Amino acid sequence: MDNKITALLAVTILCVAGACGFALKSASADTEPESDTLYQVSLLQDLMFGDYTGSITVGELKKHGSVGIGTFDGLNGELIMLNGVVYRAAVNEADGSCSVTVVEDSETVPFANTANMKTDFSATELTADSMDAMKVLLTNNTNEHGANSMYFAVIHATFDSLTVRSELAQSEPYKPLVKVLEFDQREWTRDDVTGTIVALYCPTYLDKVNTPGWHLHFISDDRSFGGHVLDLSVSGAKADFNKLANFVMVTPDTERFQGFDFSTDQSEDIEQVEG
Ligand SMILES: [Zn+2]
Repeated sequence: MDNKITALLAVTILCVAGACGFALKSASADTEPESDTLYQVSLLQDLMFGDYTGSITVGELKKHGSVGIGTFDGLNGELIMLNGVVYRAAVNEADGSCSVTVVEDSETVPFANTANMKTDFSATELTADSMDAMKVLLTNNTNEHGANSMYFAVIHATFDSLTVRSELAQSEPYKPLVKVLEFDQREWTRDDVTGTIVALYCPTYLDKVNTPGWHLHFISDDRSFGGHVLDLSVSGAKADFNKLANFVMVTPDTERFQGFDFSTDQSEDIEQVEG
């Protein structure tokens, strides 16, 4: 209460001095720390329709978080953001292998989620022999802190086995995501690989703009292997969780975006592309 009064007083004084905007911005930054805000570029449902045109730059995305997942303009690989660095896990066109590179700030993203990672709580000794088992372990932990919040989890371990996918970059006219993954998805499995999973949890009420549940992307410590996680086996993993209370979504304002009918139920297709 005291802070609010002080802030109001400061706003009043500064407004007189003609610097109202600055004071108001400072006050809202105090009450909404960015580590509690999930920032989302567009809707997964837009990506499902085949809108792969990047709408904001990687540089802009980095202003809103230090960890994240997503994809790039033209569906050119899977995005993994870790410690403020944005990586692309893509299909090496020469031999079909997995390639990981650091992405320039000038590139654009059509769909992504990010937040400033701040560890609210941790879990250790996570042992799972499948992706589904890992999701249950993660949810057991987040449920203790609120089943209806959003979360980012950062999981570091040496995985006994890990399977990831990425996809070939697309060119116009774009096919829907289900069709792309039918033909242009590539999968790779590595055993005994050390690295980090960046995982996003969306509660059920976000099912019209994202996918409910966990969505995992991986990057190896040696930065040679990564992508959207399809399966895993691990013992003794450590996970740090960031609980998120606020949600910010920026939507494109293109003719293509305005032309889609978002009342279409895409939940079955989304389940297919995620799994
Ligand atoms: Zn993914």
